[in-house]
Amino acid sequence: MEKVLAGQEWFWEKLNHYLAKSQLKHSKQRNFIIEEFLAMDSHVSAEELYSQLKNRDHNPGLATVYRTLNLLKDAGLVDQKQFSDGKSVFEVMAPDSHHDHLICLSCHKVIEFENEEIERLQELVAKKHSFKLTKHSLELFGHCSDCVKTL
Ligand SMILES: [Zn+2]
Ligand SMILES: [Zn+2]
Repeated sequence: MEKVLAGQEWFWEKLNHYLAKSQLKHSKQRNFIIEEFLAMDSHVSAEELYSQLKNRDHNPGLATVYRTLNLLKDAGLVDQKQFSDGKSVFEVMAPDSHHDHLICLSCHKVIEFENEEIERLQELVAKKHSFKLTKHSLELFGHCSDCVKTL
């Protein structure tokens, strides 16, 4: 049985549902990879997850890590984002929680923010174009407060 952290019940429930629907079996290895992923900070790359697993004496292979993250993506549980330099990160899509990102081009720090007015304006723009909005992703690039001092 997987180790379920508080507040992550919805994640495993949705995953179980997806696996059943897709007629996929649970695998111990996959569960371990997912547990480690959930225990990490948000915005994790496949490579970071892979080295974290290695530190924990698990060596599933990078291809398996990718396959697992892609499965979570197909299940609608994680979002894949391209933040900078072709580095692709994954983050959990918690229900009813939405945020956008400020990305530092110097130190690659990612700051999350929520702004109701931006959200509202985006809906307004879509409406003006009779565009049915299903999701959005907003990334602002620049230099964080630490890095801007050394520019
Ligand atoms: Zn920075
Ligand atoms: Zn985020």
